[in-house]
Amino acid sequence: MRTVEEHQRVVAELIAARPAVTVGLAEAEGRVLAGDVAAPLSLPVFDNSAMDGYAVRAQDVAGASDAAPVKLPVADDIPAGRTDPLSLAPGTAHRIMTGAPLPSGATAVVPVEFTDGGTDTVEIRATAREGQHIRLAGEDVTAGTTVLRAGHVVSPAALGLAAALGLGRLTVLPRQRVLVMSTGSELVSAGTELKPGQIYESNAVMLAAAAREAGAEVVATPTSSDDVTQFSTVLEGYAGQADLIITTGGVSAGAYEVVKDAFGGSGGVEFVKVAMQPGMPQGAGRLHRAAGPATSDPGTPIVTLPGNPVSALVSFEVFVRPALRAAMGLPNPHRPRRNAVLTEGLTSPKGKRQFRRGVYDPTAGTVTTYGPPASHHLRWLASANCLLEIAEDVTEMAAGEPVQLWDLS
Ligand code: AMP
Ligand code: MG
Repeated sequence: MRTVEEHQRVVAELIAARPAVTVGLAEAEGRVLAGDVAAPLSLPVFDNSAMDGYAVRAQDVAGASDAAPVKLPVADDIPAGRTDPLSLAPGTAHRIMTGAPLPSGATAVVPVEFTDGGTDTVEIRATAREGQHIRLAGEDVTAGTTVLRAGHVVSPAALGLAAALGLGRLTVLPRQRVLVMSTGSELVSAGTELKPGQIYESNAVMLAAAAREAGAEVVATPTSSDDVTQFSTVLEGYAGQADLIITTGGVSAGAYEVVKDAFGGSGGVEFVKVAMQPGMPQGAGRLHRAAGPATSDPGTPIVTLPGNPVSALVSFEVFVRPALRAAMGLPNPHRPRRNAVLTEGLTSPKGKRQFRRGVYDPTAGTVTTYGPPASHHLRWLASANCLLEIAEDVTEMAAGEPVQLWDLS
C-alpha cells in the first residue's frame, strides 16, 4: 500500500502552475501576483488640501485669533476636480475643499471651523503652521517604487492601491480549472423522484464547493452512469477545458467500477491503495487526447477519488486541496494543524492513517470525535470542524491523550 505522503506527492507533481495572465482588477481579486508591481505615478498625485477650509500663506494669518481675526479677500473657490492652473496672490485666501489641488503660493490650509466661512471675504480666527493640512505629492508613494510584491495575494486593499495608481490590470496566476465528475448508475439529481435503489447525487456540489473554497474555478459537474462508453463520452465533451479532472466513485474492488474500467490497463491513470481510512482506493494520472500524439500532449491531470461522500471529501482535503493551492501559488496550502486533548477514547485500524471527523474547541483545547469512522456518515462531517489525524501505528487512544488535528474552520 502507498503511504499518504507518497500519494500526496504523486498528486502534487501532477498539478502544474498555469502561465500568468494579465486580467482586470475585479478578476485579479484573490489571485497571486505573478510579478512585482511598480508605481507608475506618485501618490498623492499633486499637493492637495486635507481639509475643507481656506488656502493661505501662513505669514498672512500670523497672530490671528478669535479676539483678533485676520480678514482676507476670497479670491477663488477651489472644489475637488479643478484642473486649471491656480495661484494664490499674497494677502488673499482661496476657499478650498478636501482633495482639491493646492494653489501655488499657498503654504497652509485653515479649516473652515476656524473661520466665519465667508465667500467674498473670510475672517481667519487661528494662526496656521507652514504645511498644515496639506497632503504633499508623493508622500504616500513615490513613482517607480515597488508597491506590491510577486507572490502576494491580491487583497481588497491591494486592488484599491492598484486602482489609485491608475492600473486597470494586474498580472496574476490564474485559477486552476477543475472538472468534477460523479459516477454511479444509482445516482439521480435533486428534484427527481427516487426509484427503489436510487440515491441523490451529492459529491458534485460538495467537491465543487471545496474546489472553489480552495481557490479554483469549477468548469462543470457532470454525472455519468457506470457505463464505460457513456462515461468516456461525457468526459470527452469537456476535453481541453480543465486543468484538473476529479472523478468520484468507480475505483473500488467490485465489478462495474467504471473509472477503473475506462482507464485501467492502457491508460495513464494508476490505481492504488493508500494506507488511510477513509479513502483507501485512489487513482491519479494523466489523460491524453485519443487523437493527439502522446509526446506533444502532456495530458490533463486526473485524480480519481472514491465514491463514498466522506471518503471523497476527506481525500480531497488530503490530496487535492494542498496540491491545487500550491499550483496557484496560494499561501497556506495545508490546513492549520492544532494539538488538542481527546475528550473520549477511540480506536483506529492498524497500518492505516485514520482521519476522524471531530469537533475542536479551541478555548478548552479539546477535541471530540464526531460520528463513526465509516465513510458514508455524511451528517457528522457536515457538523465537524476538524479532522483528527491518527498515525498508522496507533490502534487505541484514551480520553485525555493529545492528538493532532486539521482545523477546517
Ligand atoms: P463507489 O466508489 O462507486 O463504489 O461508491 C461507493 C459508495 O458511494 C456507494 O454507496 C455509492 O452509492 C456512493 N456514491 C458514489 N458516488 C456518489 C455520489 N456522487 N453521490 C452520493 N453517493 C455516491
Ligand atoms: Mg459507483
